[in-house]
Amino acid sequence: MKKAISGQTRLAGLYALPARHSFSPTMHTTSFRELGIDAVYLSFDVQPETLGRSIQAIRDLEMLGINLSMPHKMAAIDHVDELSQAARLIGAINTIVNQEGKLIGHTTDGIGCLESLREHNLTVEDQKLTILGAGGAATAIITQAAIDGAKAIDVFNICDSFYQTIEPKLALIEKETGCRLNLYDLADEAQLSRSLAESQLLINATNVGMDPDPDQLPIPNTEVLRADLPVFDVIYHPAQTKLLKAAEEKGAIAINGLGMLLHQGAAAFKLWTGEEMPIKVIRPLLEAEIRK
Ligand code: NAD
Repeated sequence: MKKAISGQTRLAGLYALPARHSFSPTMHTTSFRELGIDAVYLSFDVQPETLGRSIQAIRDLEMLGINLSMPHKMAAIDHVDELSQAARLIGAINTIVNQEGKLIGHTTDGIGCLESLREHNLTVEDQKLTILGAGGAATAIITQAAIDGAKAIDVFNICDSFYQTIEPKLALIEKETGCRLNLYDLADEAQLSRSLAESQLLINATNVGMDPDPDQLPIPNTEVLRADLPVFDVIYHPAQTKLLKAAEEKGAIAINGLGMLLHQGAAAFKLWTGEEMPIKVIRPLLEAEIRK
């Protein structure tokens, strides 16, 4: 249903730097229009020194809420009133919901990944997972999978600063959720083989294999892949990474990160409006945007 802007129109938006390249305004404003919700979504370039003021404006202007992207995901935590469990464990937020002046910080990347898996009839409950990566995307997925009942997660990363940073976070997530979490060096090939042999799902949450280096694999060899080991890759550019191609050649389910991107937006939309995003309308728009 088409709707003109009125005196009642509410505002949602993105605070990032840079923010103007984002697909989110198309995603959310199209969804508002489709569902007849009187709201718009705009992108705002927000400087770090004005983040606090900009978040206060959510209350002052009675905005529905906002999304946050780099470089504000961690700093924004200090300016909200409450955090979801996942946001507290991760220490970062990508969504703020305005509940009558009270600002709640959420993180929806992990929810987006698990929702995308569900579209392929895959759930993490009572499963063992192997996850490559310890950065923002990996931490969000690990945390949400642990909250949603994964039995155990083996995390592999190269020995960089992400490795050091995630160690205490994993201990906290394990303590709070009961999910068994182990961190290993990605160079430990024997352990990777053991972990994968016990796992029902492999997730790549590193940026290895992403354009402009699509020939790279995040694992040392593809012999560890098998037909009954679904592989999820957070990367959506290229649409099929070398890892996903190898998994598909083994006969395994292979899923790229487009569904995660779509569903993290849909989760924020639901938090603001209580409504389901019209995924069937938005997915082709997002696919076209990524092909550009
Ligand atoms: P990040 O910078 O926080 O983390 C990068 C991760 O990659 C770290 O674990 C790092 O150790 C690892 N890494 C980097 N170089 C490596 C190498 N040569 N070998 C092995 N590991 C290496 O980044 P992020 O925000 O977590 O993003 C990671 C990927 O996830 C990116 O490709 C990003 O586009 C994608 N992503 C996708 C979605 C989605 O919705 N599909 C959401 C967020 C991020």
